[in-house]
Amino acid sequence: MRFDVITLFPELFAPFLTSGVTRRAYSTGQVDVRLWNLRDFADGNYRRVDDRPFGGGPGMVMMAEPLAQCLRTVRAERADAAPAVLFSPIGRRLDHAGVVAWSASAGAVLVCGRYEGIDQRFIDRYIDVQVSLGDFVLSGGEIAAMALLDAVARLQPGVLNDQDSHQLDSFNPALDGLLDCPHYTRPDSWGPPGDDVRVPDVLMSGHHAQIESWRRQQRLSLTATHRPDLIAAARAAGRLSAQEESFLTGLAQTGIKVDNSLL
Ligand code: SAH
Repeated sequence: MRFDVITLFPELFAPFLTSGVTRRAYSTGQVDVRLWNLRDFADGNYRRVDDRPFGGGPGMVMMAEPLAQCLRTVRAERADAAPAVLFSPIGRRLDHAGVVAWSASAGAVLVCGRYEGIDQRFIDRYIDVQVSLGDFVLSGGEIAAMALLDAVARLQPGVLNDQDSHQLDSFNPALDGLLDCPHYTRPDSWGPPGDDVRVPDVLMSGHHAQIESWRRQQRLSLTATHRPDLIAAARAAGRLSAQEESFLTGLAQTGIKVDNSLL
């Protein structure tokens, strides 16, 4: 798949595209990322890409024409009709289902806004989809673009060291959309003498079925605590067994509280 990224800061992407497990996806072209410097499509000595807002107010607005010129050039270079995506607080919030859909697609043209935003006439004429990273405001769409690319790249076959390990991650339908379980590694006892913490015994038991059952229970209780909405969704999809329902009822009876402090 191919992602063309239109940005005023292409240099932000270099370390991102060459680091970590996902770099393989980018270097092999499995996820083919092409960067377009919007300034190259601006006219005049100053290569101006922004101007003051009509009607007054603070900040600057990205002008429609350099964006349109850049997008036309991208379109001429890629034959398909990949959607033009604008990162914006207006958009639908990116989630696992969205990432899965992008990772099975032919890609997109990603437009990164800056300043106060983009001239609405460009958005109305050229943008097919708007995507948000969450209910907060970034200085630019680049971090949102990298978030989408990263999440898409790690779903590509062969990118993670352990094939299919993403299926064990949070939100994956393979584990009914629950949160991931806690992880532990060496040493088996950690902390100052007398105040050290041991890894849960079951993980040291070598008993595969018991480990899996412990992990499932951890997923259920963590999800019930932090994201009860995901439990409700798994239940509605008929993904919880009678045994698991009674485990959850037992948890509720022990006074488990919904903790929103980590959200
Ligand atoms: N004035 C705008 C924010 C502009 S921030 C508003 O109040 O909604 C500049 C750019 O950062 C935006 O054009 C957009 O491309 C990007 N951006 C900001 N917040 C974002 C978010 N939550 N998700 C995705 N992109 C975002």
